[in-house]
Amino acid sequence: MPCKHGAAIREVRPSADGCEECLNTGDTWVHLRICRTCGHVGCCDSSKNRHASKHFLATGHPIMESYSPPESWGWCYIDEEMLDFTGRQTPHPLPRYWR
Ligand SMILES: [Zn+2]
Ligand SMILES: [Zn+2]
Ligand SMILES: [Zn+2]
Repeated sequence: MPCKHGAAIREVRPSADGCEECLNTGDTWVHLRICRTCGHVGCCDSSKNRHASKHFLATGHPIMESYSPPESWGWCYIDEEMLDFTGRQTPHPLPRYWR
């Protein structure tokens, strides 16, 4: 089934210059994901806190983009499907933590 959540994909600004929750608690992360509905930045499933997945569970926002490192793919949590964000990636205006 192709992903039908394109309406959830917006142009967003990152909510923080790293995983929002990990910055608050002083935790570290492996990679960052950005929510393409609201701009929440959270850590990936290889990170111990998995805040990007928790953001989906808490809000139902289905689409994330691989934000750090900047790659051109995204993911729909509902369909469990890869998405191609080539040419429509979110810019990185806050360079402090991007890696
Ligand atoms: Zn979908
Ligand atoms: Zn986190
Ligand atoms: Zn969101």
